[in-house]
Amino acid sequence: MGKGNKGKIDNLGRIVIPKTIRDALDVKHNDEVSMTVEKGNLVISKGYKTCSLCNTKEVTTQISDKLLCEKCISEIKNL
Ligand SMILES: [Zn+2]
Repeated sequence: MGKGNKGKIDNLGRIVIPKTIRDALDVKHNDEVSMTVEKGNLVISKGYKTCSLCNTKEVTTQISDKLLCEKCISEIKNL
């Protein structure tokens, strides 16, 4: 996978994850994945990411490599 696989995003924003990458991640049809931006790159991870503070799945914001939900962000704002 040194060179990386190429893909195109279709008009609905979808992209096909090549089979070699799905096999490497061990993800199958209907598996849940989460997408985050890390250093300008799209990172697709197995499973759902959760809020770094309260572990809810309703993650709305990413700061550095930490994911935060709306509730925790408003709590931080009110500190
Ligand atoms: Zn939270």
